[in-house]
Amino acid sequence: MTLKKAISGTNLEQAKSHNRRVVIEAIRTNGALSRAAIARLTALSSQTISNIVEELEEAGLLRPEATLKGARGQPAVPYSINPDGGYSIGLQLDHQLAVGVVSDLSGTMRARIERNVDRPTPAEAMPLLAAICDDLIANCRLDRKKLLGIGMAMPGPFGVEGMTSVGPTALPGWQGFPVADELERLTGIAVTVENDATAAAIGERLYGVARNLGSFVYLFIGTGLGAGLFLDGHLYKGSRHNAGEIGHIIVRPGGLACGCGKRGCLERYVSLRAAYDKLDLPDPDHASPALLEELLADGDSRFEAWLAEAVEPLRQAIDILEMALDPETVVLGGFMPLPVIEALAGRLEPLHLSVSSTSARTTPRVLVGAAGKDTSVLGAAALPIFSETNPQFDVLQKPVA
Ligand SMILES: [Zn+2]
Repeated sequence: MTLKKAISGTNLEQAKSHNRRVVIEAIRTNGALSRAAIARLTALSSQTISNIVEELEEAGLLRPEATLKGARGQPAVPYSINPDGGYSIGLQLDHQLAVGVVSDLSGTMRARIERNVDRPTPAEAMPLLAAICDDLIANCRLDRKKLLGIGMAMPGPFGVEGMTSVGPTALPGWQGFPVADELERLTGIAVTVENDATAAAIGERLYGVARNLGSFVYLFIGTGLGAGLFLDGHLYKGSRHNAGEIGHIIVRPGGLACGCGKRGCLERYVSLRAAYDKLDLPDPDHASPALLEELLADGDSRFEAWLAEAVEPLRQAIDILEMALDPETVVLGGFMPLPVIEALAGRLEPLHLSVSSTSARTTPRVLVGAAGKDTSVLGAAALPIFSETNPQFDVLQKPVA
């Protein structure tokens, strides 16, 4: 068995919750593992591993499998995730869609609900999201005691004064709205909110092309554009949860006016909204990604012109990310249809010369995400378990049975 590289742990007592996440993630990524194998993968001490495994087993989150006969010494007991040990709800809200899923502890999707929305305000969206949660809980007959929390993904940036409060890629009326508190009040369940790009990075790390990677950037091409940063085994979110909001870095000084108040922002060239605008659609608020897929298949000349115009700004963004962060790769994904992302990726070479252009690399500089259209919502469902800044993280500590 080839073991997938796990994130290194730490032996500091105060980092206990981090270590629990590391152990669960190592087993989720590799399948059943003995204590010794977990110790090898995570670089945690055997004593630390024993304590964590014992706690997680008591909480019903891990379960022992049939003993393996080792070549020497004591037979090793492999531990696997108990899928029914806990559940979490993932929600994703965007301009046209609200999606909810239930994920069990092994990451398997148990239920999925989708509702159409139309650039909803908080007053419209919050009752709908709460109703989706209720339906998911009822449909799966979930034991609320085993619900680890709700993770929600939505477009950022969050709470930036004077920026993006009115832009067409931001959802209207959400600036300063206490999403987590309000949803928690309506559902009675702990809520963690992240931007869609960060949630997608988690989804890709758990389910997609980034499974073996310790450092990568996820470029989320949605109505706007953002980056999820997974660096040295951790999500990097920034001091105000706005790290990776690179849709508003200027790539064309004096270029197209952006809703954020600047000109020449990256997302004015690379995003669903940029494509809709280039196509001169009469009602871009109601255009759909599926339309772009059709235009690509038809070889539509205006759509080809958008692709040609989007390539250089995207190359520039990749250059900046590579030079600033030295990731193993940049993953492209989001609400942009897969064939369109593949068409963009196929036009990116030659990429700019950067610290990433080394012949020693084993991963391509750019990868197309593999986790599919539910990457973000599945990543959101993993937030209650994997988000280290989640104040409710101790859910993994308290026995849920
Ligand atoms: Zn902007």
